[in-house]
Amino acid sequence: MSAPSDIIAAVATAQGRAGIGVVRVSGKNLERVTARLLGKVPVPRVATRASFRNAEGEPIDDGVALFFPAPASYTGEDVLELQGHGGPVVLQLLLRRCLEVGARLAEPGEFTRRAFANDKIDLAQAEGVADLIEAETEAAVRCALRSLRGEFSAVIQSLAKRLIELRMLVEATLDFPEEDIDEMHREDARRRLMQLSQDLAHALERGRRGSVLRSGLQVVLAGQPNVGKSSLLNRIAGEELAIVTEIPGTTRDTVRQTVQIEGVPMNVIDTAGLRDTANKVEAIGIARTWDAIEKADVLLLVVEAGVGISAADRAIAARLPDRLKRLTVFNKIDLSGEPPRSEQDASGWRIHLSAKTGEGMDALRRTLLVLAGWQSGGEDVFMARERHLAALLHASEALARAAKEMERVELFAEELRLAQQALNTITGEFTSDDLLGQIFSRFCVGK
Ligand code: GDP
Repeated sequence: MSAPSDIIAAVATAQGRAGIGVVRVSGKNLERVTARLLGKVPVPRVATRASFRNAEGEPIDDGVALFFPAPASYTGEDVLELQGHGGPVVLQLLLRRCLEVGARLAEPGEFTRRAFANDKIDLAQAEGVADLIEAETEAAVRCALRSLRGEFSAVIQSLAKRLIELRMLVEATLDFPEEDIDEMHREDARRRLMQLSQDLAHALERGRRGSVLRSGLQVVLAGQPNVGKSSLLNRIAGEELAIVTEIPGTTRDTVRQTVQIEGVPMNVIDTAGLRDTANKVEAIGIARTWDAIEKADVLLLVVEAGVGISAADRAIAARLPDRLKRLTVFNKIDLSGEPPRSEQDASGWRIHLSAKTGEGMDALRRTLLVLAGWQSGGEDVFMARERHLAALLHASEALARAAKEMERVELFAEELRLAQQALNTITGEFTSDDLLGQIFSRFCVGK
């Protein structure tokens, strides 16, 4: 795909007021535009004091300009960055001036799309950029950065390379059908296929474990009033280095709360709001809560250690989907005098703890992480997207079919080809424009 040649511009920093704001411009041959904006072309890659002026030559702002000539820039084209004062009106005036001298407004993700089109990064890395910007936990940041730096792509490329080698081996035998494929070749191919299947399964597993960073574990919280549900959540949230991000648009309704454990988000849905009501607005809220419960992973039932599970608790638990994994917390062991402990039986996990003293909280955290499928540290996981997991799964299924077709070389070769095609969609070789459009449209403007 060739890159479009027009000039794009956008405010690259967040909306609102800030010390500094950045307008970014990208296109081929930006020198003329730059000269019109600044009256000069800055030395490449050197921060240059500049006066930004409007069409009449009156100053809009004083700031710093940075010029990155192609190809050593983010997009691979000429890029100009204008760093002005971060007020919304200043930045809009600056942007308007860029449009007057020949740029058009960039679409969401268009800078990154150009970086991809110009082979600066592959598709999985481009997605890493978006994931890094959207990351809400420290673990998600680390994971997205690894993708952005190409670690995930390197794993995929290495699998694809070995697949190509295997295909070459097989295609060679297709070209000389009259010759007997000697047993040694066949054994070699079989061995390679087995190893590839294993490594592909491992990559899929790493991606699956990482995907929980994106969606979080959905936890349904139930229990009678005063058993210590809020105290428990506060205890989990309070002990984490929770970086609370307030992103416009992520409305937090009252029935949902997010806490983090080791950077893994847990979205807690409170069943306290589930009561019969004649109020229409409340009824809508309750219907939403039920929708969320349908998609949840874990039921966290909190009871008092000295009291145990009541009939009312059982009634609530019975209304919830059977497939929810169950975890019962016996809280307030400081009052009942029991030691902290945790055990698992057919009915699920039972953990005795005290939200007040913190005893037993570690076991609760560990168990929730186990239920989330998260292993300590998460250093080797990839924050895979659904489409990556689907592609890895397709590739792995094709290899499984290939293993059954080793005697029929044409079919064997075809399955290997399909596996490779699936892997290629991850890094973006031969990816359709539609899919690219979908992926980049979810970026923010200016990225
Ligand atoms: P909720 O209604 O289930 O959310 O319960 P709260 O978290 O509001 O707690 C109800 C009361 O129990 C408060 O007075 C808490 O301080 C107290 N509480 C919560 N957890 C413990 C605990 O582990 N030990 C003791 N002694 N009190 C607790």
